[in-house]
Amino acid sequence: MDEVIPEDVAKRSNSLASRDIAHLIHGYTNLDAHLQKGPLVIERGKGIYVYDEDGKEYIEGMAGLWCAGLGFGEEELAQAAVEQMRKLPYYHGFTHKSTPTSILLAEKLKQIAPADFSKVFFVNSGSEANDTQIKLVWYYNNAIGRPQKKKIISRIRGYHGVTVASASLTGLPMLHTDFDLPIAGILHTATPHHYREAWPGETEEEFASRLAGMLEAMIVQEGPDTVAAFIAEPIMGAGGVIVPPATYFPKIQAVCTKYDVLFIADEVICGFGRTGNVWGSQTFGIKPDLLSCAKQLSASYLPIAACLINEDVYQAMLDESRKVGTFGHGYTYSGHPVPAAVALKALELYETRGIYDNVNKVSPRFAERIAKMGDHPLVGNTRSVGLIGAIELVADKPSKTSFHASQAVGPKMQSLAETHGAIIRVIGGDHVAFCPPMIITESEIDELFDRVEKALDDTEAWVAKEGMRADARAA
Ligand code: PMP
Repeated sequence: MDEVIPEDVAKRSNSLASRDIAHLIHGYTNLDAHLQKGPLVIERGKGIYVYDEDGKEYIEGMAGLWCAGLGFGEEELAQAAVEQMRKLPYYHGFTHKSTPTSILLAEKLKQIAPADFSKVFFVNSGSEANDTQIKLVWYYNNAIGRPQKKKIISRIRGYHGVTVASASLTGLPMLHTDFDLPIAGILHTATPHHYREAWPGETEEEFASRLAGMLEAMIVQEGPDTVAAFIAEPIMGAGGVIVPPATYFPKIQAVCTKYDVLFIADEVICGFGRTGNVWGSQTFGIKPDLLSCAKQLSASYLPIAACLINEDVYQAMLDESRKVGTFGHGYTYSGHPVPAAVALKALELYETRGIYDNVNKVSPRFAERIAKMGDHPLVGNTRSVGLIGAIELVADKPSKTSFHASQAVGPKMQSLAETHGAIIRVIGGDHVAFCPPMIITESEIDELFDRVEKALDDTEAWVAKEGMRADARAA
């Protein structure tokens, strides 16, 4: 059956919108709503701003998907890509082949890493990185004669990707329902979200201890000789920007160490300055055995991601090669020279332009503007670290009652923010995330949140007019 394309969508300037509806499937989009709503077609970008096909300006308050750390239109990244394209547009890493940019990038990543890593394996996306980590953990345990030690523990609301294995790690029902996931052997433990999950009167410290106890109980119940690894983002991003209590990770890591469970840090969002240190692991006191990074690795100008692997796991892989021969894993584009050249340039610019320092310089303003929104009648909780933060929308503050998903209050706020020229991301209906390019200045932070506050006020007016609070309480 042909879709009925609404007149206003069909009439939009050059009808790219209607052609989009006719030809494209969008990830993380309600496919039915898209038939009516159509796309917001972004045509160009400069600095923290992007512009749609009609020339309307937006502040990219999410750095795209938590990734365009250097903003848009960065000439030096474009130059790095062009130069590498001219010199060697493609080569691979199979059967002992290599390229200068992939070698230099691996070396650089090891230099700046938050722990001692032995080797780097390149992939194309965060999902592939975590998928690869699972395979490596299994391979490692087979290699060292522990074939039963294979289960991986992730967390409810954790986000680790969408491939069959990485979607299984992701602790969000939307990624599992009717996809026949998660696969066997993946377990999910509790979310460190004090605002929602703590018991009445429980301090952050007590809450962190309880969660570490829950992890330990899970490992003991499953049998420590069956649990291979634990994976976590330092700050949960796509699960709602969940900032853990300060002592959570040291307590969790102690449990992992006690039961010889490898710690995989998913630094796909937090890596490269987002939390105020180069790595989220440094901000939260994590010493990972394995680390996945992507996104800001290349400031997202081209796709590239990496797995950092410790000496123990590497030695086991080496033993396997001595036994079985070839390491049977690798992608056509692993270590592709062009994204690797762009990543090298991005890492250089983070340092030479003082981008990490900028995050620390402007983040107090970012934190202040987010915290101030906590006074708004719609906002139950606020949180931020470095240049990542969120507010949580509630129907009733004292009882923390959420709006019902069908009331679509969050999505309403997201579209009102776009009307006011701010792109933000609403997660799970009530968490509103902010993650701007790391080049943002204090005055641009003010500009972003002035626009967001207008959207918040408009959302409040709409909630009041529609009687949404009474409906939420009744639900
Ligand atoms: N891990 C984390 C923490 C992420 O935020 C994401 C993507 N948002 C992924 C993994 C998956 O990355 P990709 O979309 O590049 O596959």
